[in-house]
Amino acid sequence: MIYDLVIIGCGASGLACANRVKEKGLNYIALEANERAGKKILATGSGRCNLTNLDMRKEYYNTAFTDNVLRNYPPEKIIEFFERLGMKTKAVNNLVYPYTESANTVLNFLLRNVKEDIRCSYAVKEISKDKDIFIVNNEYKARNALFATGSNATMGYHSLAAVKALGHTYKEFKPSLVSLTTDTEYIKGLNGIRAKAALKLYKGQNLIAQERGEVHFKDNGISGIAAFMLTFYMEYDNVKDYDIVIDFTPDMDLSQTEKFALEGLVRERIMNNILKQAKDTAQRAAYTLKNFRLKVKGLGDIKKAQVCSGGLNCREFDPVTLQSKLTKGFYACGEALDVNGQCGGYNLHWAFASGLTAADNIK
Ligand SMILES: Cc1cc2nc3c(=O)[nH]c(=O)nc-3n(C[C@H](O)[C@H](O)[C@H](O)COP(=O)(O)OP(=O)(O)OC[C@H]3O[C@@H](n4cnc5c(N)ncnc54)[C@H](O)[C@@H]3O)c2cc1C
Repeated sequence: MIYDLVIIGCGASGLACANRVKEKGLNYIALEANERAGKKILATGSGRCNLTNLDMRKEYYNTAFTDNVLRNYPPEKIIEFFERLGMKTKAVNNLVYPYTESANTVLNFLLRNVKEDIRCSYAVKEISKDKDIFIVNNEYKARNALFATGSNATMGYHSLAAVKALGHTYKEFKPSLVSLTTDTEYIKGLNGIRAKAALKLYKGQNLIAQERGEVHFKDNGISGIAAFMLTFYMEYDNVKDYDIVIDFTPDMDLSQTEKFALEGLVRERIMNNILKQAKDTAQRAAYTLKNFRLKVKGLGDIKKAQVCSGGLNCREFDPVTLQSKLTKGFYACGEALDVNGQCGGYNLHWAFASGLTAADNIK
């Protein structure tokens, strides 16, 4: 049997595509390596699934390749897609969640109409093309193929080599939106401590980005959403060129901080470490409270990252249709492409928007 389409990978982007091509009446099969589809969706947004963001801007992504897809699929269209599936959403400060605030709900609605078409526990190793027909693992045949295998961040797989026979190239995956390892001299003993602060990312003397939020100290570095956000701005091959400067009193200027510097503006264990650097003078303590500098040593473990940078080379795909420029009928979407976004619903938005875009264009 020759299908109209084979979908490889049933996560956020593959399932969005499956729902749309089902509506279009295409004869398709979807293949998933895990024993169940959409496992990663369940872990998103700490189990609440932040599925898009009403404040959508192209600069929240690493590449202008996303521009057309974002224009055609703004957040309202992703909300509409879910409402057509029967799922109500709600926005909390621009962050959009399912009304239940449960990622389970999102997965249930994504699977409702398409679960019969998915073969689970089936890992695709190779996709080739013979004349006009794609051949997957020497078993499945289809006129079109969609590559939606995501990345190996957290529980994902690295499957990019499967498309080598089609002539595509890729950039190696590196963790993004992940904790940072840093020098440890001044964070000794802080493992497990959290503090509200402003974090600044410097490359040499240049301020690259800043974020406010909770910083989580670990034995070997820092974690938490604000630290994750800063990794988005880094050149991943040169992370050792960066410093993180923590301001523990972002609501006060230096002179205000100085008045209270020795009195307990931060937790005791942090203060002890500040004083090791500041040598007990209020003036130096205040400066250190506002300029607690850590040298970046590396990115955290890919198995704990929210997303990856890297993936299939976007230049080899049409940014309007997401069809390959090298192999007619081959499409890619989601994190399998070299696209990554900031925290806040941007990565799932890209996954859904790109899966739907591919579906719109597959004949
Ligand atoms: C802990 C965590 C929290 C997150 N929270 C959020 C959030 O709240 N908001 C947000 O926007 N983003 C969030 N993300 C990121 C978001 O989950 C991903 O960007 C998104 O799931 C990517 O969609 P995708 O379809 O490209 O890949 P995935 O959803 O990873 O799906 C890829 C699928 O392909 C399958 N697959 C891989 N290789 C093969 C193969 N060879 N053969 C067959 N199947 C294969 C995989 O098993 C998987 O099911 C989070 C990520 C993590 C890890």
